[in-house]
Amino acid sequence: MEVKDMVCIVCPLGCKLKVIKNDTSQTGYTVEGNKCFRGVDYGIKEMSSPTRVLTTTVIISDASVKRLPVRTSGTIPKHLIKQAMELINKVEVKAPIIVGQVIIKNILDTGVDIIASRSLYQDSKDEETLKGYLVQG
Ligand code: SF4
Repeated sequence: MEVKDMVCIVCPLGCKLKVIKNDTSQTGYTVEGNKCFRGVDYGIKEMSSPTRVLTTTVIISDASVKRLPVRTSGTIPKHLIKQAMELINKVEVKAPIIVGQVIIKNILDTGVDIIASRSLYQDSKDEETLKGYLVQG
C-alpha cells in the first residue's frame, strides 16, 4: 500500500497529512489529518502530479547588482524543475527590467512564464526612479 506523510502548505496551519493510495476511492487516494478540503486536494496533487513555484535568479548586466530575482508565473511540474533551471541559467538580461516582465515565455511548454520578481534600473536607481523614467519615456 502506497502511503506518504506530508505537511500541507496551503495555509499556515500546516496540517500533517497522510495520503494513502486507495483504489476503491473515487480519487484513487484517501487523505487523513486535513482540517479542511484544501488539504485533500493538496495531498492528492502531491501524490499524483506534484508542482512547484520556482524562484531563482538570472544574470543581469548594467544594473547595480549582478543577479535579477525571477520566479515562475504559476506552478510547474516538479519533475521539470531541473530542466527549467538549466534553461534559466543560460539567460542573461540587461537593465532596465520591470517587475513582472517576462524573462522566458512558456518555459518547457508548461504555459508558465519566468518573470522578474523585482524591477532593476541601470546603476542602482530605485523603483520610484524607474517608474518616473518610464513615464517620461
Ligand atoms: S488542510 Fe486545510 S487547514 Fe490544514 S494546512 Fe491544509 S489548508 Fe490549512
